[in-house]
Amino acid sequence: MSLANYKLKRNFKVTPEPKAVLKKNSATLSFVVQRHKASHLHYDFRLEMDGVLKSWAVPKGPSMNPADKRLAMMVEDHPYSYKDFEGEIPEGYGAGIVEIWDNGKYTDIECSGKEAATKLKAGLHSGSIKFILNGKKLKGEFALVKLKGKQENAWLLIKHKDEYAVSKPYDSEDETPKTSPINKWLSANQQPEKKNFTNKLKAEGKS
Ligand code: MN
Repeated sequence: MSLANYKLKRNFKVTPEPKAVLKKNSATLSFVVQRHKASHLHYDFRLEMDGVLKSWAVPKGPSMNPADKRLAMMVEDHPYSYKDFEGEIPEGYGAGIVEIWDNGKYTDIECSGKEAATKLKAGLHSGSIKFILNGKKLKGEFALVKLKGKQENAWLLIKHKDEYAVSKPYDSEDETPKTSPINKWLSANQQPEKKNFTNKLKAEGKS
């Protein structure tokens, strides 16, 4: 796993995003879903593997309904510490606002510990990863399946049928608090008197 592309795309003199540092393997694996208002609002789904976060951009966001197959475009590996990143990315790559939508631990669908880490990595290479998320919003079994013969980086994120699955339509936007930084920014910028996000936070004494 390498963070070379992550490093290449960013200017760390400007962006507050974490530096490209590899982490040692951990006993338990973390995941994060970040909501990212860039040129388009999307979700970034990240799974810890081998000291980095394997990352997919999910335009429609994850779903708890097994009937949904959500397109997930694999992007560059992100550093492990990105799992805690929230904030404003200035002009440049990914410019906009990032907020954490969900996070927690995850493991392989059948095993845990070192065995899970090995199996998940093998799944990544073969284009089929089956895992269990233990988040606040996302729970239970999921799969990421690589699309064959399509764009090279196209995968599908699918919820498996289990006790956590829902049968009614699921929209990740409905699961986002109205007061989230991105939603605040969106409502401020839909008003006639546009306010810059940073100024808004300053006015509220948050920065
Ligand atoms: Mn993104």
